[in-house]
Amino acid sequence: MFRLSQNQLKILEECPRKFQHGYLELLASTTSPEQQEKLTWGSQFHLLMQQRELGLPIEAITQQDPEIGRCVAALIDTASELFITDSQTKNIIFRQAEHPRTLIFKDYLFTVIYDLLIAEPNTAQIIDWKTYPRPQKAERIRENWQTRLYLYILVETSDYCPEQISMTFWFVQLRGEAAPQKITFTYDRTQHDRTRQDLTQILHKLTQWRQQYGDRGELFPQVDITAHQCDSCQFATRCNRISSTQKDRVLETPTNWLSNLAIIEEISI
Ligand code: SF4
Repeated sequence: MFRLSQNQLKILEECPRKFQHGYLELLASTTSPEQQEKLTWGSQFHLLMQQRELGLPIEAITQQDPEIGRCVAALIDTASELFITDSQTKNIIFRQAEHPRTLIFKDYLFTVIYDLLIAEPNTAQIIDWKTYPRPQKAERIRENWQTRLYLYILVETSDYCPEQISMTFWFVQLRGEAAPQKITFTYDRTQHDRTRQDLTQILHKLTQWRQQYGDRGELFPQVDITAHQCDSCQFATRCNRISSTQKDRVLETPTNWLSNLAIIEEISI
């Protein structure tokens, strides 16, 4: 069973060769100190929210990092409806932070982890904390594989129909005095069917490419050079697509590239 995440789907769509280098050959990419700092902040925020949901103390972290405490406080204040406890509303039948779900689809195993899942008898909300600024174009988030896969998997693994579920992104980092902002996506049968179709197509191609790569050493296809993705890709030298001003940043040692990318997803759609 080949495991896949939303981030791997994203890479596969952007450039199949990049998927080959990153996930089959496990070539490493570097993380800049600035990027690492953002990753650490994002991880801490998620941990804090999970601890809070479990009723555990969070003061040790918020005292060390008052800024993160300010963001948590602002979120709780702005999104107060999310933090109503079961005793205040009898409608909630299930609520969990870092809730995992898995789905087997065409011999691939997908695992998603919802930052917060709130289920009521006739509706369910997926909540996701984003620790980077809200993008201008909401459509980019709707079309991102995270949104599509998270909604798809909830329908496939529950009794809810597509129209009963939604996904809300909260952009939690405060910018000046502005409060946290949110974007909510509703879902329907048409979107669900389109995701199933797209997944079927992309997984069919992936199976073919993996077979050809394994049997005959055939390389995965490269993205068209006119897409300009190679300009900023760490595999440009390996792919013979480097410009005279670029430097190859590839480290050819097995590493946690895969998990790095999964976290990077948290900071840049
Ligand atoms: S350099 Fe271009 S073709 Fe090669 S992996 Fe990167 S994006 Fe794909």
